[in-house]
Amino acid sequence: MARRRQIYEGKAKILYEGPEPGTIIQYFKDDATAFNAEKKGTINGKGVINNRVSEYIFTRLSHIGVPTHFIRRLNMREQLVRQVEIVPIEVVVRNIAAGSICKRLGLEEGEPLPHTLIEYYYKDDALGDPLIAEEHIACFNWASGEEMQDISSMAIRVNDFLCGMFAAIDIRLVDFKLEFGRLWDGDFSRIILADEISPDGCRLWDVNTGEKLDKDRFRRDLGGEEEAYREIARRLGLLQNEDNGAGEVFDLSAHRGRLRGSKPKK
Ligand code: C5P
Repeated sequence: MARRRQIYEGKAKILYEGPEPGTIIQYFKDDATAFNAEKKGTINGKGVINNRVSEYIFTRLSHIGVPTHFIRRLNMREQLVRQVEIVPIEVVVRNIAAGSICKRLGLEEGEPLPHTLIEYYYKDDALGDPLIAEEHIACFNWASGEEMQDISSMAIRVNDFLCGMFAAIDIRLVDFKLEFGRLWDGDFSRIILADEISPDGCRLWDVNTGEKLDKDRFRRDLGGEEEAYREIARRLGLLQNEDNGAGEVFDLSAHRGRLRGSKPKK
C-alpha cells in the first residue's frame, strides 16, 4: 500500500493527504497537551472518542444547516474532511465563567455570564495564542468583515444547538473553542466549520454534581480523564455497542469506569 503523505502534525491530530483532491484525513491521537504544550501526557482512547464525538456533532450540525468540513468517518481514529484554508483565529464561546477569563477578569469560576461571549484568539503557538479584538482581525486582514459575520453567527448557532444537545444529557456547556476554514471554489471561498468539537476543546460539567467531564481533568490533575471522555460518549449514545460485542466503534478496554461521585443514569 502506498504511504500516505503527512501534511501536518499538531498536538492532538495528524493530517494526511486524502484519497481525492481537496480532501484530508484527520487522524486523532491520544496525546494530550495543556498550557501551550508545557504539560504533556496521554489519555488512553481519547483519539477514538474524539473522532466519534466530533463525527456525531458535526453531522448533527450539518442537519441544521451549519456547513462543516466533515465528510465521513473512515475508521476508529480517522475521518475524511474537506481541505480548507484555516482562518488563523480560535473562536471561543463562553456561557459560564471558567478558565482564562476568570484569571483575566477576576471572575469566580461557575458564574453564569450576563450573556454569551465570543472571544477571538490569534492562532500562534509561539505567541501563546493571544486574545485579540475584531479590530486586530480587520487590521491585519486575518479575515474579512463578511467572513467575521459568518463566523460569529455560526458560532452563536453552534452554541445554541450544543447547549440544548448537552442539556438533554444533563451536561452544562460552559465554553468551547471553534475553528473555521475557507473552502475555495475557483476564485471564491466560503467559511465552513473545521477542526473538531470534542471534550478536548469544550468545558462540560455534569448538571447535578458539577463534575468536570472534559480536558480540565487532565489540565488540573484531577484524574479520571479517560472515564470522563467515555462518559460524554456514553451519554451521547455513542458507546451503546460496547457491551454487545459489536465493538465496531470502540474496542478500548472492557472495563467501563465510573467517575467517583457521579450519579448512575436513570
Ligand atoms: O483556556 P480558556 O478558558 O481560554 O479556554 C476556553 C475554551 O476553549 C475551553 O473549553 C478550552 O478547552 C478551549 N480551548 C481550546 N484550545 C485552545 C484554547 C482554548 O480548545 N488553544
